[in-house]
Amino acid sequence: MDGDTLPFWKTKTLDEMTPSEWESLCDGCARCCLIKLEDEDTGKIHLTRLTCSMLTVRTCRCSNYPERFDLMPDCINIDVAKVRELSWLPQTCGYRVVEEGRDLAWWHPLVSGTPETVHQAGISVRSFAMNEKRVKEENYVRYIIEDFEGE
Ligand code: SF4
Ligand code: SF4
Repeated sequence: MDGDTLPFWKTKTLDEMTPSEWESLCDGCARCCLIKLEDEDTGKIHLTRLTCSMLTVRTCRCSNYPERFDLMPDCINIDVAKVRELSWLPQTCGYRVVEEGRDLAWWHPLVSGTPETVHQAGISVRSFAMNEKRVKEENYVRYIIEDFEGE
């Protein structure tokens, strides 16, 4: 196979992708929409299984994706720099996979042809997450599932 027949994620770096290619590389797992608690003393990041209030957990979709940065100041714009610096970005994240020179897994929508496989494979947050609106803020610590150093 030559470069013309290979899919874009095998031939381009993250920096070279068009906006639509970039968007399609997101697998829709919504793991970056999980609430993170930062310990101001240690700098550690505690990842919870609570999601941003704007996430619809059943579909793992943002309820207002086009206006998310205006409506949710904590929403993180995942760009190339963020892919390289965020320690908590999941190993399965499509951007991280390509950045690290790995190939997309069978369940990635670009490979399977359907957004359902990210849920069927248990990669999305659908099976374990809960919207933060259902929990009092002082109880968020009860929902911590993983710790990360630094950002
Ligand atoms: S973790 Fe990566 S692949 Fe998953 S929703 Fe966030 S940006 Fe998309
Ligand atoms: S605003 Fe939308 S995209 Fe941003 S973290 Fe919340 S649910 Fe996710």
